[in-house]
Amino acid sequence: MNIDLHCHSTASDGLLKPEELVARAAANGVEILALTDHDGVSGLAEARTKAESQGVRFVDGVEISVTWEGSTVHIVGLQIDPEDPVLRSGLESIREGRATRAEKMGEALAAAGVPDSFAGAKTYAENPSLISRSHFARHLVKTGLAPDVKSVFQRYLVKGKPGFVPHQWASLGDAVSWIRASGGIAVVAHPGRYNFSKLELHAFLAEFRDCGGAGIEVVTGSHSPEQYFEFARIAREFGFTASRGSDYHGKGESRADLGTLPQLPYDLKPVWHDW
Ligand code: AMP
Ligand code: MN
Ligand code: MN
Ligand code: MN
Repeated sequence: MNIDLHCHSTASDGLLKPEELVARAAANGVEILALTDHDGVSGLAEARTKAESQGVRFVDGVEISVTWEGSTVHIVGLQIDPEDPVLRSGLESIREGRATRAEKMGEALAAAGVPDSFAGAKTYAENPSLISRSHFARHLVKTGLAPDVKSVFQRYLVKGKPGFVPHQWASLGDAVSWIRASGGIAVVAHPGRYNFSKLELHAFLAEFRDCGGAGIEVVTGSHSPEQYFEFARIAREFGFTASRGSDYHGKGESRADLGTLPQLPYDLKPVWHDW
């Protein structure tokens, strides 16, 4: 089966509308697809309708921004109920923080000699309640500040760089409990991306498991092939189910296209084992 359980639409920082994203997934042979926009569920209804018309099985998802011990981590929720009031109000609280953060990013960049980036970023954000660093990055590339999104992140938008504004996202426990309250499964997104020491990674995963987390992404567009093996081992060690997802954002911005990554190692229990 070709299963892709992580991607983004214009409801957050993807480049394709939900229905365009589903059409692309279908064309790539994806049979089960989850849309996992950052901190919001507003793209799910459109994506589901399109998926039904294309014979793709659709899974409601979300990717929640979390602050754990001072680091930003992402927790994916799968098979959530997008109408659940606990989940909805939790996500709304994170989105509110994004607006102020974006204003502060604009001020920080202006102080570093890059004017008008907040207004510029807004023109790239189709969902006005979800403005992200990706939208700043696209604007800054357009103004000629850097050749591509990747380098603009490295020069301006990551910790220690002029446009980075520290932000407090949801707590790990809250994010997992919102997902579970809505009937969903909590999965650690791209665990290889956090620059944790071995000790930190273990502490993080143990806490995630203790608060009800169930899975981790093993095969993701954010992992190298070596990391597939590393996190397969960790999935076995912690008893986590394993997920596969491209984290596709759009042409030119993602390493993996929808549904094109390798399969999970055969001995892992996939997150979809009982679907
Ligand atoms: P935010 O949630 O506003 O902090 O934005 C995070 C998003 O920025 C991620 O979901 C990625 O889509 C994108 N991103 C983060 N780091 C990088 C990077 N180094 N290069 C390109 N995109 C990145
Ligand atoms: Mn993103
Ligand atoms: Mn992520
Ligand atoms: Mn993502």
